[in-house]
Amino acid sequence: MLRSRTLNTLRKSSRAFSTAMPVRSSGTTPVPGLGFQLTEDQLSFQGVARQFAREVIIPAAPHHDKTGEYPVDIIKQAWELGLVNCHIPTEYGGMGLGVFDSAIVSEELAYGCTGIQTAIEANGLAEAPVILAANDAQKKKYLGRMTEEPLIAAYCVTEPGAGSDVAGAKTNAVKKGDKWVINGQKMWITNGGKANWFFLLAKTDPAANAGKAFTGFIVDADSPGITVGRKEWNMGQRASDTRGITFEDVEVPDENRLGEIGQGFKIAMGAFDITRPLVASAAVGLAQRAMDEATAYALQRKTMGKPIIEHQAVAFMLADMAIQTEASRMMVWRAAWLRDQNKRNTYYASIAKALASETANKCASDAVQIFGGNGFNSEYPVEKLMRDAKIFTIYEGTSQIQRLIISRAVADMAKQNQQ
Ligand SMILES: Cc1cc2nc3c(=O)[nH]c(=O)nc-3n(C[C@H](O)[C@H](O)[C@H](O)COP(=O)(O)OP(=O)(O)OC[C@H]3O[C@@H](n4cnc5c(N)ncnc54)[C@H](O)[C@@H]3O)c2cc1C
Repeated sequence: MLRSRTLNTLRKSSRAFSTAMPVRSSGTTPVPGLGFQLTEDQLSFQGVARQFAREVIIPAAPHHDKTGEYPVDIIKQAWELGLVNCHIPTEYGGMGLGVFDSAIVSEELAYGCTGIQTAIEANGLAEAPVILAANDAQKKKYLGRMTEEPLIAAYCVTEPGAGSDVAGAKTNAVKKGDKWVINGQKMWITNGGKANWFFLLAKTDPAANAGKAFTGFIVDADSPGITVGRKEWNMGQRASDTRGITFEDVEVPDENRLGEIGQGFKIAMGAFDITRPLVASAAVGLAQRAMDEATAYALQRKTMGKPIIEHQAVAFMLADMAIQTEASRMMVWRAAWLRDQNKRNTYYASIAKALASETANKCASDAVQIFGGNGFNSEYPVEKLMRDAKIFTIYEGTSQIQRLIISRAVADMAKQNQQ
């Protein structure tokens, strides 16, 4: 029912949407003043994603959390509805949605389950460097196939010894004839065991500084020499597939090199301007879910003769959740909107990521508090939210790394103002 009805709605509106909204490749579209009213098309996307989260994701989420089973069927359904790979440009078969539109979708999916949403969104993370830096043939081949069937892709940057310190990554690529030979180990790769291809960052000039030492590659996941590790059993978001991957003499044709030699670090980091607002929007979805669950519980649970929502200590926890969730959503919207305007958004993307991920953790923790003993029990929904929330302050740059980026930008802006 959902599938047949909403698929048409979404596809139809996506076409209209892509022509009505600013498209990155066409440059900056003037937007009059500030507006917080979503367009009809955006409301339509939001509605489809919301309905999908309520009807499909939420009922299945506990099973995937308990078993760690990868949600293949759910991803396929989401793909059919157009809720996966939202920002692949229309010329490569995608819907060409902006970051803002994708953020609306991410928030809704994450409301249902951030494990399942992460499995979906990790495609976007792998695709972002390709959208940023690939040539036409690479885009046709690797983005195109994502729109033809429900395939999975993964972003391979982190290593056992280098997460925050990306510059310390040791995986290397050596040119031999018209091929590159890649050796090294990646760690914590979302969708690692399910991917059809990887975006991979490898060192190509060990003597150069980080800005020039790395090159990006697209690597077919079935290339000889790739060994995918076991599925990691994480604290939360267990529906998502996280693995270590070893590359041993893996040959990659030069035609799979992304951009210029030595530009990989810039490309890999540039992807975060697109994806951090989306991770932040997922954190907002979790925060909103925590607030909604806690509010519903507080309205019906009675102590000392009245619903606990009438105890000010409880009511104010809900008020704080509302303050933080609404503020986080606005930061996500700002960071995403700037990106869609072709404006530099790194500073705002980091603020959105840090704020929303910490909000998700606070809201989930307070929701457990409001549920009391029930909150600590896995028969109720909020303990999962608390476990799921933690990763938001870690992946795609920890909260400390976001503060590093923000504080550097603050210093730079102050110095510029002094000149
Ligand atoms: C479930 C999961 C999914 C992931 N998915 C992916 C993926 O798809 N692709 C991918 O490439 N990576 C992925 N990651 C990796 C993730 O991005 C890293 O774990 C993260 O960047 C932190 O790196 P680290 O684990 O090496 O911690 P470290 O870098 O060792 O950091 C340890 C602690 O030190 C702090 N710290 C480090 N350096 C500084 C500094 N300079 N200043 C202040 N504090 C600092 C950190 O904030 C942290 O608190 C994933 C991780 C997890 C757990």
